[in-house]
Amino acid sequence: MTTNRKGFTLVEIMLVVGIIGMLAALAIPNLIRARETTQRNKCKNNARLLMDAVDQWAIENNKASNDSPASNCSDLLPYIKNNLLPVCKAGTAYTVSGNVTNISVNCGGGSGPHGSWTSVSLSE
Ligand SMILES: [Zn+2]
Repeated sequence: MTTNRKGFTLVEIMLVVGIIGMLAALAIPNLIRARETTQRNKCKNNARLLMDAVDQWAIENNKASNDSPASNCSDLLPYIKNNLLPVCKAGTAYTVSGNVTNISVNCGGGSGPHGSWTSVSLSE
């Protein structure tokens, strides 16, 4: 006597679906965390670009150490590639505060998802 089985039983399908669900539960939080880390690093690098632009602006225009560039970064445009200000991946614009020796770059005016960066916090 031979039994002719075609297809899968309900238990087999439930087992496979359960395994896939467990793998997804492990992978998805890690993917979300990696995405947030990448955005934060990109934001940090944009802040670095803006601080370098402040340095170039100060040198080229003979600024004193207590001078400040415009907070909307308009002074810095000539020192950034394509004259375009970087925009955070979170969609917020950067503002610059402080003076030449102690500059601070804020993602979304400091209330954005990544807060503010100073030359000290950038070197961490
Ligand atoms: Zn940001």
